[in-house]
Amino acid sequence: MGGQDKDGAIEATLIPGDGIGPEITRAVVAVLEALGSPFAWDTQQGGLAGIEAHGDPLPGVTLDSIRRTRLALKGPLTTPVGGGFRSVNVRLREEFGLYANVRPAKTMVPGGRYEDIDLVIVRENVEGLYVAFEHYIPIDGDPHAVAISSGVNTRAGSRRILEFAFDYAVRNGRKKVTVVHKANVLKALTGIFLETAKEVAPRYAGKVEWDDRIVDACAMQLVLDPWRFDVIVTTNLFGDILSDQAAGLIGGLGMAPGANIGANAAIFEAVHGSAPDIAGKGVANPLAMLLASALMLEHVGRGDLAARMRTAVAKTLNRDNIRTRDLGGAASTMEFAEAVIRRVRNEA
Ligand code: NAD
Repeated sequence: MGGQDKDGAIEATLIPGDGIGPEITRAVVAVLEALGSPFAWDTQQGGLAGIEAHGDPLPGVTLDSIRRTRLALKGPLTTPVGGGFRSVNVRLREEFGLYANVRPAKTMVPGGRYEDIDLVIVRENVEGLYVAFEHYIPIDGDPHAVAISSGVNTRAGSRRILEFAFDYAVRNGRKKVTVVHKANVLKALTGIFLETAKEVAPRYAGKVEWDDRIVDACAMQLVLDPWRFDVIVTTNLFGDILSDQAAGLIGGLGMAPGANIGANAAIFEAVHGSAPDIAGKGVANPLAMLLASALMLEHVGRGDLAARMRTAVAKTLNRDNIRTRDLGGAASTMEFAEAVIRRVRNEA
């Protein structure tokens, strides 16, 4: 994925985004350069920066760039309030068929509520209740007397995300996939997901174990005993909720990376937003976007560089004790990045 330019570099779209986006992007690009990153960036605008430059939070030139590179690293985008703009993230998912959302949750800083968390949530990203077939029925002058929403899960969409999760588990040496559903109540909408899992999972017998769990029980067990999980695969709404819950186990969204993957394109991002309260102060934590770029390196077959980055990050955090303010430290965004770069150079 991502074409190669004449020097063999992998062309990729870089969207710095809004708020803290440009600051953390600068830090991430500096670390990637120190690692000898394979990416040749085509920098484009999105979010408020896209509106300012081109009158659209997802400008045509940005879409054209991703159509060409099929690979992007995206900073957080501020969703304009009012003005009738549709969510940029939903537009990107639809435009590029990014059907898989992958959110690893791995402990980076010991001493939190839970130690040694290492699990991955694979969320179906384009079906389910997010297709937004919604409407109100007015009764007796109340325009919102009744609200109706229909979800859509297909056999093909379920098969595609389940195969993705099992393949991911095999490729990454994971031992178990847990299929999460609510087939006891939403018998059709999520029953089809479990039914399809029973068809897909046996094909991976001997390579990866599997079990299934009802979403409410899963949520409780994630709190009581998160170590029993390895890879969780689930439908759109449940995945949305469980992936934030899993991020909570490792200290919140500030350290959570995400990958949105389709058959022909992949977009990597930090899960947090544009943090307008601290934008421009140079204090934001670049870790989530840095870890997103590590997922991107793995995606293009440079797991070696991703591993070096993670080692350098872990040593910066836990041996050098250099952390940004949100993690109880005093380092600025660039001081943290420079400390990671020193570790990258020393380990080389
Ligand atoms: P937010 O994630 O931007 O901020 C929540 C809190 O976490 C704030 O106190 C912020 O300072 C802190 N925080 C977030 N990232 C941080 C970092 N890297 N380092 C240190 N502290 C960090 O959530 P919000 O305030 O609800 O949303 C702000 C804007 O971001 C909104 O316009 C929202 O729509 C948008 N948003 C975008 C994305 C995305 O593009 N993927 C995701 C979520 C929210």
